[in-house]
Amino acid sequence: MDTKENLNNLEQAQLDFISTVSHELRTPLTSIRGFADTLLSSYDRLTPEQREKFLHIIKDQSNRLIHLIENLLTVSRMQSNKELIIYKSVDVVPFVDSAVQMIKNQYKTHKYVCNYGKNLPKILIDTDKFQQIMLNLIDNASKYSNENTTVYVSVNQDFKHNTLSISVKDEGIGISEADINKIFNKFSRVDSPLTRKIQGNGLGLYITKSLVEKMDGEITVTSSDKGSEFIVKFKAANPDDEAKKKIKE
Ligand code: ADP
Repeated sequence: MDTKENLNNLEQAQLDFISTVSHELRTPLTSIRGFADTLLSSYDRLTPEQREKFLHIIKDQSNRLIHLIENLLTVSRMQSNKELIIYKSVDVVPFVDSAVQMIKNQYKTHKYVCNYGKNLPKILIDTDKFQQIMLNLIDNASKYSNENTTVYVSVNQDFKHNTLSISVKDEGIGISEADINKIFNKFSRVDSPLTRKIQGNGLGLYITKSLVEKMDGEITVTSSDKGSEFIVKFKAANPDDEAKKKIKE
């Protein structure tokens, strides 16, 4: 590829980026402004239930904006290598479980079945980043599956490879073979009638994979029309690693 072609690709990627971000910002902002306008102009004509409903929409759309901006800041820190990883040797089960509890509060009709192995080894991770990974995967498993389905979360030791394996499995819409290689790309969303109704910005899995790999882990996915399973693996920690890897930029 020559320099001119490289530049064109870069320019095209920047234009795509600006267009995607602008769209992602405009949609929730338009909705916030619309509902705020209605509340201001018709406050007395609205029932208390309607007012409450509109305020909830404003709050949800604001949260969507905050989530997008946090994701963009994470991507920007990762790309300029400013994402600081602070390692700690920990038992991950409490972190996995707290992510499950957080998501459970948002999806009241889903069932969550957790299965944690006994006497699991510790792993060397940044606990905040690990939490972000788990929240993304469990949120996706819930978001891309119907009400009254089950999300299975498990943590087990793989003795043969001396790794810890964390699985998040759903009974959702699944991902086709053609799309499965694209979902970890930046801003990549599967475009289908089923996914179009679901809010997202295509950054979650890109961030998730980057964070897993930055902490020397590995993420894989398998999927069918009966659901998807994401598996994250980390090497079991040993005391030498901890000293070597306290902080990594
Ligand atoms: P989004 O913000 O769109 O959810 P992600 O990067 O988290 O972005 O995911 C990228 C795409 O991968 C999603 O838009 C969706 O099409 C697909 N996807 C992710 N997780 C699942 C899942 N558990 N089941 C089905 N599709 C999924």
